[in-house]
Amino acid sequence: MPLTRHAQFQLLFPDEPAFRWNQIESSFFSSAKNWSEVTAIPSAMRERLSPIPWMSVELVQMQVSKNGDTHKALLEVDGGKEIETVLMKNPRGAWTICVSSQVGCAMRCGFCATGKMGLTRSLISDEIVDQYRFWGDYLLTYNLQPKTFVPLRISNIVFMGMGEPLANYEAVKESLNTLLAHTDLGKTRITVSTVGVLPRLEQILTDQDWPHVRLAVSLHSAIAQTRKQIVPTSYDDFLPKLEDWAKRYLTKFGNRRHHLTFEYVMLKDVNDTPAHAKALALFVNRIGHVRVNLIPYNLTGVEFECSEDSAIKQFLAALEDRHVTTTRRRTMGSDIAAACGQLRDRYKTRDLATCESPATSST
Ligand code: SAH
Repeated sequence: MPLTRHAQFQLLFPDEPAFRWNQIESSFFSSAKNWSEVTAIPSAMRERLSPIPWMSVELVQMQVSKNGDTHKALLEVDGGKEIETVLMKNPRGAWTICVSSQVGCAMRCGFCATGKMGLTRSLISDEIVDQYRFWGDYLLTYNLQPKTFVPLRISNIVFMGMGEPLANYEAVKESLNTLLAHTDLGKTRITVSTVGVLPRLEQILTDQDWPHVRLAVSLHSAIAQTRKQIVPTSYDDFLPKLEDWAKRYLTKFGNRRHHLTFEYVMLKDVNDTPAHAKALALFVNRIGHVRVNLIPYNLTGVEFECSEDSAIKQFLAALEDRHVTTTRRRTMGSDIAAACGQLRDRYKTRDLATCESPATSST
């Protein structure tokens, strides 16, 4: 695992005051393109810093959806390890980026392309932050191409790429604090999605350094047996424990602008029946300030099938009847296999189908 730029700086300049690093770090988010353009620091210092990589990620492959709304990059970190990151146009007239927090993932969720890869290693905070910097540079150069004029602003970040962010807690926290310090993004514009690593969720309740960005928990079922079938790291008393945690979290941090989201991937005949909708509504209503996000399944293998469009609609209606605030995720970039882990998978091995036809893909 490489050392962070900050750790390398500290090794080189152990006696420098803290403001110096802050000055250097802010230059990573300025128009400077390399060390020689960081004119705020003395040239002798610049020279000694120059062996530290200016950027920790490098483009391997880019795919752009036909309508230009989704751009997906396969990036290389640390000599050959590959991660994915996605740039998506959002309804705010700007861009949302989806970042990876690990190379692969250890959670083994059966429907997830990354889950099938296993974990290679966690990313260091620079490698997470540099996905944002990569897209910033990309938007500038993309705009220079003939006939393209796109907004430059990245208004939202979701930690929904490869990996389990809370299994890489310290680096994710550091990346969040860096992004919040050096970009115009506020805490409500960043979402960390987790499978629900309870010890880390507990830690968030008391960790003074954890910034209270939005949290999304990948619930996928409010019935213990079904959840275990979909999410192998789940266990019998996960749901009551999550419920207890969520109540305490919302008592402490919930307000009009701060809720919890439960993500729910729709798998045909596995978790999309009326009984599942009822169990989910009861679970959510016991907790309170929670929103449900239904995710149409992006096909990644043969174990699961996509829910019918009609089943998703019924499921959504059943939740709304029980006063659960529910959204259905827009499916973006299905022509370029944009679900996490899919690009790497596709690039390496085989072609993948998607079960959503374009007609149903923008709900
Ligand atoms: N490890 C984190 C981030 C995973 S990706 C987590 O579990 O939340 C973000 C979301 O996309 C998760 O809810 C995940 O379950 C979901 N997801 C992963 N693969 C998918 C696929 N092929 N189709 C639909 N949703 C998928």
